[in-house]
Amino acid sequence: MAAWAMFQARFGYPPAVVADAPGRVNLIGEHTDYNEGFVLPVALPLRIEVALAPRDDGRVRVGSSGFLAESPRIYQLGVEAPGAGWLDYIQGVTATLHQQGVRLRGFDAWITSRVPPGSGLASSAALMVALLRALRTALALPLDDLALARLAHQAESQFVGARVGIMDQLIASLGTPDTALFVDTRSLAWERVVLPPTLGLLVIDSGIAHQHAAGDYNARRAECERACALLGVPALRDVALADLPRVEALPSPLRERVRHVVTENARVLDAVTALRAGDLARLGALCRASHASQRDDYAVSVPAIDLLIALAEAEPGVYGARLTGGGFGGAIIALVEPARARSIGERIVAAYAQRSGVCPRLLLPAP
Ligand code: ADP
Ligand code: MG
Repeated sequence: MAAWAMFQARFGYPPAVVADAPGRVNLIGEHTDYNEGFVLPVALPLRIEVALAPRDDGRVRVGSSGFLAESPRIYQLGVEAPGAGWLDYIQGVTATLHQQGVRLRGFDAWITSRVPPGSGLASSAALMVALLRALRTALALPLDDLALARLAHQAESQFVGARVGIMDQLIASLGTPDTALFVDTRSLAWERVVLPPTLGLLVIDSGIAHQHAAGDYNARRAECERACALLGVPALRDVALADLPRVEALPSPLRERVRHVVTENARVLDAVTALRAGDLARLGALCRASHASQRDDYAVSVPAIDLLIALAEAEPGVYGARLTGGGFGGAIIALVEPARARSIGERIVAAYAQRSGVCPRLLLPAP
């Protein structure tokens, strides 16, 4: 059921506004956002919807279809405390707005979603951006799309406590259909790049969720910070391809980590040029190189993902494939001929299930 109808059914009156925001897949530019580098994500046709009506008693009542028996959860504004599961994403938004001087007086909200949570499609950012959009419309808040993304990022990194880069919130707030968002995460300058109609995207969730993914992610961040200190730069963004000989003198694995970030930044720039030229063979080659770099230098791939990549690369009609998202499991993206996307995806899923016993999910094209 749509968010509007769920809201009406659960709260017994109609919502004042309905807003939504998309999930995303990253075309290329992995682990570059927290190094102040370049990213190139794409908004998905899968969205999270929030139906909302303001209250004036300082209370928040919020429910989400599919989460916790669908019963609304309640808290009082001003006493937000992390550690409440998915409610942290809602509390994070209200606490961060308060910190920024926005005075909320409470609301009822209902969430519905087509973005699978925890599959690397950035459901958390879509949720927070959709909620912020609903609040912006309902209360006429003077926030532009960039400010909204920054608020969502602040809420997720500071209140929820996930040390994520800002890519997910930017694409959730600024993404439009059939375009990729080229972002310089240092300046937050961004530009939309039209996706050629000859490019089809395939996304497959491996079904493998690494238990210590957050710990490993933070370990990579710490390695990048150590490398910066040794190289005497504020961020790995400041290391150019021409500096790679100097990078080779770093101790392992810092050398490999830096090599990935530096070459990945260069690949994003090349990918933007290739996209604009409609050069899908070049784009595919960049994806393949990106995957090898993530696997060998950044060490964020796992055997299940490498198997999915091998199966994808063996399919005619695939330009290239790579691990997408933070890694240690998660999903792959493959660039394919659009007309063959679904049949290629279904063949990869079947072959993978047969070999591994784990059934992966075809997320895009959406079933
Ligand atoms: P990703 O953003 O890649 O999907 P995260 O771990 O960052 O993975 O975010 C997933 C979390 O976001 C979920 O565990 C849940 O707490 C929250 N979330 C996602 N979708 C919803 C939803 N529809 N309703 C409520 N909470 C959600
Ligand atoms: Mg997330």
